[in-house]
Amino acid sequence: MTILVTGAAGFIGAYTCRALRARGADVVGLDNYNDYYDPQIKRDRVAALCPDVDIRTLDLGDRDGLAALFDEVQPTQVIHLAAQAGVRYSLTHPHAYVDSNLAGFVNLLELCRHRGVQHLVYASSSSVYGDSATPPFSEDQRIDQPRSLYAATKAANELMAHTYAHLYDLRSTGLRFFTVYGPWGRPDMAPLLFSRAVLAGRPIDVFNHGKMRRDFTFVDDIVNGVLGALDHPPATDVAPPAAPHRVFNLGNHTPVELERFIQVIEAAAGKQATKVYKPMQPGDMVETMADTARAQAAFGFEPATPIETGLPQVVDWCRTYFGDKA
Ligand code: NAD
Repeated sequence: MTILVTGAAGFIGAYTCRALRARGADVVGLDNYNDYYDPQIKRDRVAALCPDVDIRTLDLGDRDGLAALFDEVQPTQVIHLAAQAGVRYSLTHPHAYVDSNLAGFVNLLELCRHRGVQHLVYASSSSVYGDSATPPFSEDQRIDQPRSLYAATKAANELMAHTYAHLYDLRSTGLRFFTVYGPWGRPDMAPLLFSRAVLAGRPIDVFNHGKMRRDFTFVDDIVNGVLGALDHPPATDVAPPAAPHRVFNLGNHTPVELERFIQVIEAAAGKQATKVYKPMQPGDMVETMADTARAQAAFGFEPATPIETGLPQVVDWCRTYFGDKA
């Protein structure tokens, strides 16, 4: 029983590897260590969180390399977290999303299908809800009006996984993560950007004049959800048109206004933020909020970390990791 984790050097991937190792699982990872953000953070993160996991440097686009890895490792389960992430970057770098999130996803689906993988768990995103859903977002709401190419590729992943479940009985579970944060988090996202800027006395850009609400979800809660989903694969004896594929929201179920979020960072940093108010950015959503009832019923998902507990950990980590360069 070997579990393959893609994107293992990434933020959620490294925590997932750590949690899997803590329960004694055999884990092999892959990551291309790309430079969407400083790859040194990925190397340091792996050294800190999951130093004993064998992580191969491999791109999802390398079909031969991926096939050789499947032959060697013979994974029974796959947790797929590698992707080109980021809403704003997708406006300027569309091909990175096509390569990793669409072509790369098909490469992985093909191998899961042909090599008898028992369960594929993959990352989707709250961004799939786009303009068509009303908060709180439940999984039954429409996802056909994405606001960015990033969101469109995540919605496409759900359709592709459903297709493989339908055609080939490849069991899969899509997880719609809601704004994940924590120590070792992504430096392109608001929790780290704001924490570092406030610590260093730099101004922060506050989009939509601070009137955005985000369902910020602590990484430990997300990882609990990933493992819960992994342990509860969909049933195979479903009647068509259903297929052994399901999607779940994993969020905190408690949206926070940006201004409140900044106050918590200020308190943890012991400094006032210098705020520069800006209009809404193309591709952004005004509010996200997860309805988590389905994940709660299926595998007892229960987010436990409010921002008052989680954000100070981010600020402390930034202070330690970035030091004077924060
Ligand atoms: P991350 O960028 O830290 O991790 C992704 C990892 O995948 C990176 O280490 C990157 O080097 C690797 N990668 C990217 N393209 C690859 C490719 N073609 N081949 C091999 N490796 C590749 O991001 P994260 O925040 O840990 O996100 C993990 C997953 O969760 C992604 O699918 C992301 O879209 C999704 N997600 C994240 C959030 C969030 O708030 N962090 C929210 C919704 C969805």
